Amino acid sequence: MSGETFPALVLSEAGGKVVAEIRRLGEGDLPEGDTLVAVSHSSLNYKDGMILKGVGRLVRRYPHVPGIDFAGTVISSSSREFAPGEAVILTGWRVGETHWGGYAGRARVNAAWLVRRPAGLSAEGAMAVGTAGLTAMLALDALERHGITPQSGDLLVTGAAGGVGSMAVAMAARLGYRVLASTGRAAEGEYLQALGAAEIVPRAELEAAGADKKPLLGERFGAAIDAVGGVVLAGVLAQLRYGGVVAACGLAGGAALATTVIPFLLRGVSLLGIDSVMQPRRAREAAWARIAATLPPEALARMTQTVGLTELPDLAERILAGKVRGRVVVDLARA
Ligand code: NDP
Repeated sequence: MSGETFPALVLSEAGGKVVAEIRRLGEGDLPEGDTLVAVSHSSLNYKDGMILKGVGRLVRRYPHVPGIDFAGTVISSSSREFAPGEAVILTGWRVGETHWGGYAGRARVNAAWLVRRPAGLSAEGAMAVGTAGLTAMLALDALERHGITPQSGDLLVTGAAGGVGSMAVAMAARLGYRVLASTGRAAEGEYLQALGAAEIVPRAELEAAGADKKPLLGERFGAAIDAVGGVVLAGVLAQLRYGGVVAACGLAGGAALATTVIPFLLRGVSLLGIDSVMQPRRAREAAWARIAATLPPEALARMTQTVGLTELPDLAERILAGKVRGRVVVDLARA
């Protein structure tokens, strides 16, 4: 074991509050696992924001190193699957929640949780994609498995200026869909159009439709990728075309869903659930390969900002308030 130290963002709980500090740790501090990874980049997702701020009690044991995503290079592994020097990515498996995560220069994890970084994506690029991009691609895959194609009609993306949303807009547009981007931030209209959105749908329109509680409204969307949930999702369900499908990914606008079964019965619409966390490895590998082949590099650059560990506590507050645009990459060399 090396005596080297590395920077880490460590959370502890004091007086019922979660506090973050940057510390230097050694390999001996890391949790159990069969594979040691030198982490070069991580990212900030909505869930990281919750964990950094102690929202939702996702972390039960402190001290804790958050970071639900990371990219890096294998240092050593007792598993036959990975050799030292291999470039890997980790997302999900509750790493960063129940196991220490990517906000540290080293991570010790299980080889079964890792995927090889696809050719064509740098470590920084892979973290610009992160859980958000993987989720957006899993949602697109799920829609297509249910028969949705660009000919099915306009594809709506909600929470479009956020991480999952930006990824969904850029990839769906590249795959030939006519994308309608719903945002609560009118100022992000130009950004979303640059990512490939054909039209902007003000979030308030969907909220009004959901709050209206009419089970059926005009048939507007062929399919939808929803990062928001709550009243927005209710509004989307009432406006799907006959046979339309919505992939539910998130709850940035609320976990409750007040709707009726009428759109399911009279329009044959479908509501699909998307989980990126426990997704089996084969599906992840296929999704990563398709992301690398689909995502335009200029769109990735447009939606990404890169920060160091010290900036994360402030950014956590901003992501929970819906104020972060696109994706945040964490460069461990900046700590
Ligand atoms: P972001 O914060 O980057 O994006 C969420 C977006 O939702 C915001 O940018 C905003 O978009 C919109 N939003 C925020 N607050 C509200 C609100 N109160 N009402 C309505 N809309 C709101 O988060 P992520 O993209 O990282 O995650 C999005 C959601 O998806 C989260 O709920 C997250 O937990 C979930 N998620 C689920 C995964 C899964 O495996 N199922 C994986 C990854 C994420 P705008 O300003 O454009 O309206």
